Amino acid sequence: MKVIRAKSAGFCWGVERAIQVAREESQGGRRTVYTDGPLIHNRQMMDALGKDDIQEVGDYKSEEKIEINDESEKESVVVVRAHGISPQRRDYLKGLGLPFRDGTCPDVGIIAGKVKSHAEKGFSIVIFGDPKHPEVIGLMGYANDKAHVIANESDISKLPSLGEKVAMVSQSTMFTNEFKHLSNLLSAKYPGLLIFDTICGATKERQSDLVDLVKEGADAIVVIGGKHSANTRKLAKLAASYERPTFHIETAEDIEGADFDNYDTVGVTAGASTPEFIIRKVCERLESF
Ligand code: SF4
Repeated sequence: MKVIRAKSAGFCWGVERAIQVAREESQGGRRTVYTDGPLIHNRQMMDALGKDDIQEVGDYKSEEKIEINDESEKESVVVVRAHGISPQRRDYLKGLGLPFRDGTCPDVGIIAGKVKSHAEKGFSIVIFGDPKHPEVIGLMGYANDKAHVIANESDISKLPSLGEKVAMVSQSTMFTNEFKHLSNLLSAKYPGLLIFDTICGATKERQSDLVDLVKEGADAIVVIGGKHSANTRKLAKLAASYERPTFHIETAEDIEGADFDNYDTVGVTAGASTPEFIIRKVCERLESF
């Protein structure tokens, strides 16, 4: 069976950067690094980071109070993950009295800047995204209660009247075609709508490279990544939309016993939080079939 790997698959630069920040702060395990929620949405990578004493505290949405182990003799530091946080959460984390380092992806920082500056100028903000995703929760915090989240077309009809000044941004990991569709509908309602396509370059690249796998003749697609990873789930959805059998797996073990006999060519891609060692193992396993 032929295995073709997408040109871009696995860690995006924002995730790599956040991991680097956490590793720098851990100083090889001499310090404990507390991340506010999982640093990345990949269990295997979080286990690997645990060896450097990089530990998840808090919760997925970055909303709950954090319990820090005061009895530890080791120095410790708080690191913000790539999704970013709201300014209110930043104040809370800084108030814990520990050294603080920000691993927010600069691409998310750009979105936060647009939300903040336009909310300050009196715009209502519409964010296309998942209202429960930590990135969106963080962005909401920059809008002074002027932000509304839409996840689909029906959410547009549920919006209250937004006035004349409306700006729209997107969570970084959404589909470009869906963003275009919703921004067209919204601008029909609000002709002066300012539209900022803030889907990040890494997301766009991974989505278009997946389409290339289909063009190159993949009969089935394997998407590797955490079941909670928004961008991995989107890649799986995109693959399925091309009517290719799609396998969303976390590790090579998940394809043990799977039946690939009917496929000559399998395309492989991976979400932005999937480490290289897992991608390599999956490709090797598939090639052995
Ligand atoms: S997916 Fe995009 S915005 Fe999110 S961490 Fe990666 S590069 Fe940054």
